[in-house]
Amino acid sequence: MMKFLPALMAAALCATSALAQSPLAKPNDRSGLFDGKTVTSNDLRRVPVVPGTNVPQGAIVIRNARLFDGTGAAARTADLVIEGDRITRIASGGEAPAGAEMIDAGGRTVMPGLIDLHTHLTYVHAFGLPGPVSDESQAGAAIRGAERLRYFAESGITSVRDVASHGMAPFLLKNEVASGAIAGPRIFAAGQLIVGEGGHGTEGYAMATAPAYPDAAVREAIGPDDWRKAVRTNFKRGADLIKLASHFSQEEVNAAVDEAHKLGLRVTVDSESIYTKMAIDAGVDSVEHPLPRSDETVKLMAKKGIASVPTFVPYQYILAGGGYNGSTSRRFTLSDESIFAMGAKLKAAGVKMGIGTDLIVDWHHHLPDAYIQELRNFRRLGYSAPEALVAATRTGAEILGMDDRLGTLQPGKLADLIIVDGKPDRDIEDLKKVDLVIVGGRVIVRDGRATLPPRIEEKAPFSSSKE
Ligand SMILES: [Zn+2]
Repeated sequence: MMKFLPALMAAALCATSALAQSPLAKPNDRSGLFDGKTVTSNDLRRVPVVPGTNVPQGAIVIRNARLFDGTGAAARTADLVIEGDRITRIASGGEAPAGAEMIDAGGRTVMPGLIDLHTHLTYVHAFGLPGPVSDESQAGAAIRGAERLRYFAESGITSVRDVASHGMAPFLLKNEVASGAIAGPRIFAAGQLIVGEGGHGTEGYAMATAPAYPDAAVREAIGPDDWRKAVRTNFKRGADLIKLASHFSQEEVNAAVDEAHKLGLRVTVDSESIYTKMAIDAGVDSVEHPLPRSDETVKLMAKKGIASVPTFVPYQYILAGGGYNGSTSRRFTLSDESIFAMGAKLKAAGVKMGIGTDLIVDWHHHLPDAYIQELRNFRRLGYSAPEALVAATRTGAEILGMDDRLGTLQPGKLADLIIVDGKPDRDIEDLKKVDLVIVGGRVIVRDGRATLPPRIEEKAPFSSSKE
């Protein structure tokens, strides 16, 4: 009898660990749902997929790279081998896979692709204007997004966390990029911004909102059940994460965060003052913007590991344009001193901080300077150049929840990388010289210009040609 006990105990332990894995390894993380062998989608939804889905054919070898791998290590000379969508080898020399495209970096810097944690790919070009200029249709939204993807791609940005866009448009754009049909960065999309009636994003500029306009970029929700429903609608459409904004009641934000976490989605919030404290008590995973909050709230963020995406750059643009005026949903004063004082407090408390640009209206036309400006802002907070680049890559992947596949250049990781004609880890201004961009093993930018992968002609069901 005794000899069976170890086996029984082992079986019991297995059952316990299987239970611990179910239904979610962590309340805001779907990555531990599977056995490690099941192939899952390269997004935050981690849906089981047929092996090879969205994986390009062939291999690429990059020789003579000055490799800044995003781990925090100093740059070194290396060759990189990419097979399919992954980095398979980092070493000097060695044999190239048969038929591989050979790229000579010639000593230029190869580094992980940049991550922008705060975008709105489909927002209208201008607020408060009638007619086509403020087109809220799905067609207009998708076309605007497709145009903007190029600006991000040519700036060396290989992943964007889209924290509010119109209806289905961000999810359709995401799928087209993932399949290689259009060139752009990976898209991790929140879908609609969820906010209380009259909250941020619903007034001051005549924006259509859901549920009256189901395809809008903003969803007004009333009461805890409706906040849960708004989370579920985004999840059903394809959301990778959930974005909330003030104002809300404690019950409403609790319900939304609880629902999102049960579905395995992270939650980020755009809020100020007391609302940020309420969102933190509800258990959000990150807080956007450098808006006012108490010292106690900053301490709580550090203690609970809640990240910050400070997005200084849009506030600098707003201040340069005359200030944050006319809004009844936002109650704070804004100045260059106030936003950097908040940034300094967050950094001093040890809060993890990532790079987001929040380029609304037509501000994407300011790329790549807009992204580099946010790195300059991190330098102003005391980050060294390499530290700012790590914030833009490895930390960005951590805040996303994709650090098992993105953010650093290491064998086994997805091949998202850029070649820069300079040394951005010494001078971040060199990021203006992005020559080549690879996303998931596909070259999407060559010589600084967006490019499509080669067109593959498929055999027609009938053809008179004898060839
Ligand atoms: Zn925003």
